[in-house]
Amino acid sequence: MTDKILIFEALNGASSFLKENGREEAVARLLLQHELGLSHAGLLASMREEMDRDAFNRYWQRIEHHAAGTPVQHLTGYEEFYGRSFAVNEHVLIPRPETEELIEEALRLIALYFPEKKIKIADIGTGSGIIAVTMKCEIPEAAVTATDISDQALHMAKKNAEGQRADVTFLQGDLTEPLNGETWDMILSNPPYIAYAEATELSDSVRDFEPHLALFADNNGLALYEKMVKQLPELLKKPGIIGFEIGYAQGEAVKNMLKAAFPEANVYVKKDINKKDRMVFCVNI
Ligand code: GLN
Repeated sequence: MTDKILIFEALNGASSFLKENGREEAVARLLLQHELGLSHAGLLASMREEMDRDAFNRYWQRIEHHAAGTPVQHLTGYEEFYGRSFAVNEHVLIPRPETEELIEEALRLIALYFPEKKIKIADIGTGSGIIAVTMKCEIPEAAVTATDISDQALHMAKKNAEGQRADVTFLQGDLTEPLNGETWDMILSNPPYIAYAEATELSDSVRDFEPHLALFADNNGLALYEKMVKQLPELLKKPGIIGFEIGYAQGEAVKNMLKAAFPEANVYVKKDINKKDRMVFCVNI
């Protein structure tokens, strides 16, 4: 056995292995870029070069972990969100592209209703910190506070805020509880919303590797919206805006909760790019 291996051979072997194991072949390229520290273009230009046996062994170990279900983001240690890189681990939900659409709508509403941008924003259940950190980066004039019940998640969120030099206040506690005694112009949350009954429909990479505390909620996945909405009338300023990410079947239920709590508000469900109900906004002006 030589101590070198051709890069394109490593890639081909890994791609076939992942395919045989029912995984996406493209992950072979991503993990190879990660191991070699190369961009996509850089990898393409290096295909006929060799890699060390040690590097190959490390690469192959990750390929095997991924074949067994470990999410690629746990192997590389990060995921991109709204153009920035966020560190992730087994204690936080991996950022999803749907949540970028929550950010987009929140930014559109700020431009419309708070053009001076000097507002207070809260992110409930911040996990990796993506919502809070992205809002602070996009609206530096805003004061952003984020909560989470999990110390391990908050540790990750703080690390991500430091990575982006985003000055966010992090508070430990259950949902809105750490926010009590203050009021907010905008309250955002992507809480756990999957019903326990739906666990069997999730892929093994999600069900077996992502934190259940971040995925599941009681009462068909609606329990945490109910709990938050009870507290929100005391926490939201007027004018004030609430934005929730939701499960595709929860639009009507969450809209009705918010409508009951804020009878004068404009409450609407918004679809994601896959045309599924994905967000509910409550604009109480
Ligand atoms: N707010 C974080 C996110 O949007 C965490 C969400 C969660 O853990 N349910 O990714």
